[in-house]
Parts: sequence; structure tokens; C-alpha cells
Amino acid sequence: MFGNELNQYRELSMLPLRGLLVFPYTVIHLDVGRKKSINAIEEAMLGSKEIFLATQKEAQNDDPSEEDVYAVGTVAEIKQILKMPGGTMRVLVEGICRARVVSYTDDVDYIKVMIEEFRNEETTKKNPELEALTRTLVYQFEQYVRMSKKIPPETVASVVTIEEPARLADVIASHLSLRINEKQSILEALDISERLNALCEILAREMEVLELERKINIRVRKQMEKTQKEYYLREQMKAIQKELGEKDERAAEVEELRAKIKESRLPSEALEKVNKELERLERMPAMAAEGVVVRNYLDWVLSLPWSKETRDRLDLDMAEKILDEDHYGLEKPKERILEYLAIRKLAKKMKGPILCLVGPPGVGKTSLGKSVARSLGRNFVRMSLGGVRDEAEIRGHRRTYIGSMPGQVLQSIKKSGSRNPVFLLDEIDKMTADFRGDPASALLEVLDPEQNNTFTDHYLEIPFDLSKVMFITTANSIYNIPRPLLDRMEVIELSSYTEEDKMPIAMDYLIPKQIKEHGLKKNNISFSEDAVRKIIREYTREAGVRNLERQIASICRKVAREVVKDRNFSVTIDADRIKKYLGTEKFHYGRAEKDHQVGVTTGLAWTETGGDILSIEVALIKGKGKLTLTGKLGDVMKESAQAGLTYVRSKADELGISQDTLENYDIHIHVPEGAIPKDGPSAGITMATSLASAMSGRKVRSDVAMTGEITLRGRVLPIGGLKEKSLAAHRAGITTIIMPSENEKDLEDVPVQIKDKMKFVPVSHMDEVLAEALVPKEKGKQR
Ligand code: ADP
Repeated sequence: MFGNELNQYRELSMLPLRGLLVFPYTVIHLDVGRKKSINAIEEAMLGSKEIFLATQKEAQNDDPSEEDVYAVGTVAEIKQILKMPGGTMRVLVEGICRARVVSYTDDVDYIKVMIEEFRNEETTKKNPELEALTRTLVYQFEQYVRMSKKIPPETVASVVTIEEPARLADVIASHLSLRINEKQSILEALDISERLNALCEILAREMEVLELERKINIRVRKQMEKTQKEYYLREQMKAIQKELGEKDERAAEVEELRAKIKESRLPSEALEKVNKELERLERMPAMAAEGVVVRNYLDWVLSLPWSKETRDRLDLDMAEKILDEDHYGLEKPKERILEYLAIRKLAKKMKGPILCLVGPPGVGKTSLGKSVARSLGRNFVRMSLGGVRDEAEIRGHRRTYIGSMPGQVLQSIKKSGSRNPVFLLDEIDKMTADFRGDPASALLEVLDPEQNNTFTDHYLEIPFDLSKVMFITTANSIYNIPRPLLDRMEVIELSSYTEEDKMPIAMDYLIPKQIKEHGLKKNNISFSEDAVRKIIREYTREAGVRNLERQIASICRKVAREVVKDRNFSVTIDADRIKKYLGTEKFHYGRAEKDHQVGVTTGLAWTETGGDILSIEVALIKGKGKLTLTGKLGDVMKESAQAGLTYVRSKADELGISQDTLENYDIHIHVPEGAIPKDGPSAGITMATSLASAMSGRKVRSDVAMTGEITLRGRVLPIGGLKEKSLAAHRAGITTIIMPSENEKDLEDVPVQIKDKMKFVPVSHMDEVLAEALVPKEKGKQR
């Protein structure tokens, strides 16, 4: 379009612009200071008030020549002039049209140029392409404004009403903050569509940049916000703590813990958790209650022997020596334990079954466990399961509970001080389950070698490796051990001690041990055999030796008091002195009943704590033949009393029971109180004997005890626990035991010393029982 014949050529004074560009159709203030420029304006004011505005290529240039100024510029009309202080001038100009310098004509007082004007833009014919471009531009401009937020909405409203594309483009370009060369290129775009296109491109690019800027901004702000917020809060907390004078306490605490953590050699999982908790603690104010909880937790984790281990010493000869050193007798259990240790020695990695020592209290289960630990050179720890009914006792409470703690298992491990102790689980048969969860299944996890390397306590929340622990369990009876546990265990039975066992145990083990424990010397105290036997018989009645040891301890204690007063005090404890030290005897040794009596028979009972004797009494009172039973008897026992009575009645004639007795007397059966559970059928023949005695008036032998179930026809059926029962009978001074002949095979288990001293009478019918137990009838006496 350059050189179009419609264009006008004219001469105008020129104002070079620094750092800005005036588009046609725009009104703008210019501050003018350069002498030449002021001259140019004054010259213009004298004539048409029009002036040519062109932009300098370099803003710093104070006296630009022709090549320093863009050739294309704008013809503008001067609307207003304001003289400013200091000789400068503020000029209000309005762009009229584009123009191009043809030549510089003067440059002495001011620049004068010959220009070619392009005034015919608005007459450009509209076409669809132009229309489309226009719409796009408007749309983009609106978008741009919305994104950039730099242009007020009123401006947008007025801009979009412009219909003439050329004008629209110029107005929009003037509102954009573009670099000078970009603006210049728009100004030089004389072709309208070219100008619109260029603008669209610029807008699209600008929007892209804006979008990027926005994203970067958001990211930066987020980051800033987070760090700033944390920083701010931390500072604030520090300030508060400082005000409260607490800061140092917490910091010191955290430091101390951090040092401990460094030393502790925790496994990575635990380390991670602990560090997290420590961070939490660090952020807490010193007085926060929560802080105590976290502190406790950390103390707990750090106190566990995560990697502390004792070295095993698996010397079987040594083990045998130690077991013998600590225990009298117990040949079978010792042998089994040594076998068990041998297997462990051969197959170190083998995850063998768990030992379970079964027997009545006080027979040395715990102390065998201790000896195993001693012979292996391991630490020993004991945990009682008696009465444990809550899973949490084994596995702990979650930390959400107030005052929660790890379960007993980890508490014991902590106590043991190493992660491979011998761990005695006592009374595994005394656990009970209730609504709080089944402790047996938790225990199963503890014992299962497949799972216990990642045993997780609810409180600790991090797995602890229990696989190196050697578990030994104990129970009084295998019947109450939960089946799945029993399946994993190797049962070793320990039986009750006879008096013959107890004597050497007391003399050679318990007495020396107690003398030492009480700080006595051998010459301060000695026990005679008679005395020990008296203690066994008259002050204890037990399967094991626990009470025996207690009685001995009690004597030692009293002697120790004397020794404190007089260092040379010396006493021999003989049978006569026992009373002085232990008071009157607690049990009547000898015959369960001293003399043969009518209506009183000694029975034998089997309990978990060994066997015991019980006497069954029958009395006749005037009445109508009614049967009364007292002594808190179980149903089975009541029924066998009925059976016994029926049998005795049916044999009334043979037994010499009078009609009067059968018809005019009530019968009262009583089993005196005692710690023995009074149920089960094995007292059948005992009750029948008492009945027969009471009704016939014949005495029962007091040196006879019996056990056996009875049928209505008087058959005697087998019972359990013969061995324990015979030990109890022996203890009680009985010399004859009547037993079911079907139990004869069980005699094998009865210790020889008992068999030597005791007469066993196997019977299969009640007639035989009565023949043995009843004292022959005295002449002239009959009911
Ligand atoms: P349990 O665990 O079976 O109830 P303990 O192991 O506590 O019994 O034994 C009670 C006491 O009797 C302990 O002091 C123990 O050393 C001692 N004891 C038991 N049996 C023997 C034995 N055979 N030889 C020496 N001391 C024994």
C-alpha cells in the first residue's frame, strides 16, 4: 500500500519518542523536554497543530538522527499544551493516522520531515475473513483481560464496541503492554488482516505466558505458604514456650532421647517409627499431656533388647551337671530335657516343639526351667498365665487407652534384658477366655515359630522378633491346656513326690538353700531327720515341696533373729523343737481316723494338685428312711450315693441290717469340707461302705482307704489317678488301699517305696470291699 496514489505527501515537524509509541485513535500525554522537540511543537502550533510522532530505536539517544528513528510513525493532533516548571512541556496528543517518513528535510532547530500519510484505512471493505479475524481478536482480548487483570473492565466494554477493524486493532494494541519493537511491527502492518493476525498471535502467546505464570505462581505460593506457616507456628510456639520457661526442658529431653536412639541399634522399621514419634514430641509443648504418652512410648521402645543377645553354651555334660546340682531325682524329666537340648544342639535352626512341664505345684517345674537357662547361659524370665483372661494382657492395649502398656510378653522380655532368654510361661492351663478376646490364640502367635519373628504388640505397633526366645511352659494338668497349644508342645510329666523323695530333697537341697538365703552358717542350725519328717507329715500336705520349703524358711527366719542377737547361736532342730518354731501341727498324720469307727470311711480323691484323702460320714437319725446329703456334693456324687444305698438295702439281710433300721431311720451322708472338689463317681464304694457300716453297726477299718465306682448291683468300676491317690494315702498313714481290679495295670506307675509299704487289694465287687474294710462284727451288738 506504500506509495498509494491516494496518499498525501506533506511536510511536518517531527517529535522523536522515547520508549513509547502512539497509535492512531488514541489520546495520550507526552512530557517533552528536549529543546528540538519543544521547538517542533511550537512550530506545529503555529500551523495545522499536527505533528509527526516516531519512536526512537534507542530511548537513551538524546539527539537522534534519521537512522535512529523508525520510519513509520503516527500523525497526531496537538490538543493541549501545558508549560511545566523547569522548562518542560506536557502535551496532550491524539493519533490521527499512520505515516511514513519519505525524507528528512531539516534538522537545525527541530526535525522537519516529508511524510506519506495513510488516511484511507477506514474505507477498507469488509469481507468474511476480516470479520472472522475481528471476532477472534475481540474474544481473545476479552480472555486476555480476564487473565491478566491489568485492564479495567470498562475499557474492555468500550473497546469491544469498536466496529472498524483497523481502529479496533490499534486500540487493542495500545492497551497491551508489549515491547516497543512489537508495537512498532503492528504499527508498520499497514494491511489490516496482517495487523489483526499479528495481534491474535501476540495475544495467544501472551495468554500462554500468563497461564504459565499463574501455574508457577500457585506452586511457589503453596510452597511459601507451607514453609512460612510452619516457620511461623514454630516461632510462635518457641515464643510461648519461652514465655512459660519450658523450652529448655523439652529440648534437653529430645536431645537425650535422640542420643539413646542412636545407640540403640533398632531395626529399620522401629527406627522409622521412633524418629517419627520423636519429631512429634519435639513439636509438643512441654506441658502437653500427650507428651508424657509419647515419652513413655519412646522409653518403652528403647528399653527393649532389640539386638541384645546372650551367647548360647550348649554343653550337654555341663547341662546334666547343672540339672543334677539343682534337683534331686526327677530322672525321667531330666533325661527328656537333655534329649531336647541335644536336638537343639544338632539342629540349631530347627524350630522344635515347645517343652511343657506338667505336674502338681511345687514339684520343681519352675526350677527346672531356671536350670535349663543356667545351663545354656541364657537369662531367665517367668510369666504367670494363671487367671489371664484378656488378650490384652498378652499383647497389650492400643495406645489410645489411658495408661496403656505393652502386654506381659514384651514386659517380660524387657525384664529379661536379652532377646533370647529362656521364657517360662507358667500355668498355661489356667487361662480363661471371655468377651475381651481369647488369650490362647494370642499365645499361639507368641509360640508359633512361623509367626513369632514378627510378634506385634498392640501398644508397640512395631514387630518384635521372638524367634530366638526359648519358651518353656508349665501346667498342672494337660486336660485344661487349649488343644492347639498342646499340639505344639512336647509334654514332660512330673509326678508327686513321696515322703521318701521329700526327705533327701529337704535335707540336701531345700535346707542348705534356705540356710544360705537367710545368711546363716552351717554351725548356726541343723535339722534332724525326725524333725524334717515331722514337718512333712504334720505341717504340710502337698504333692510337691513348696510348703515344706516355706516351713523350713520360716524356721530359718526365726533362727536368723537369734543369730543377730548372738553370733554364736547354734541350734539343732529336732522333732521336739518343731512346735516351738512352727506352732501346733496343722495336719494329723497317721490314720486318717485314729480308731476304727462306725459310719466313717476314708476315700481317695484325685485333684490337679495331686491326690488327697477324704472321709465320708454316715449317720442314722430316727425318721422314715429319707436320704440327706450334705457337704456341697456334685450331681454325679449324689447319684452314686443313691446307687450305694440301693445296693446296701438290697443286701440288708446278708449285712445283718434290721428291718427297724431300714424303716424307721433317716440317713444322712456328709462329706466334710476341704479343698477337694467333691464330684465324680470314684467315691461310690466309699459311700456304700459308710452306709453299710452305719446301718449294720459294724466298724470300718481306719487303716483302709478305697476308691472305685459302684453300680446298683455292686459291681466296682475303674477310676483314674491311682498313683496320686496312693501317694496321698501313704502320706495319710493308710496301709491298705482297696481299688478296682481293672486298675491293676496302673500299679506300674506307683513308686516302689509305696508298693513295698502298702497293701493293694484289687476288687471287682462290693462284697469284696466290705469283706476287707469292715471290722468283723462284735458279738451281742446290733442295731
Ligand atoms: P513348681 O514350679 O512345679 O510349682 P517349683 O519349681 O517352684 O515348683 O519348686 C518349689 C521349690 O521346690 C523350689 O525351690 C525348687 O527348687 C524345689 N524343688 C522342687 N523339686 C525339687 C527337686 N527334685 N530337687 C530339689 N529341689 C526341688
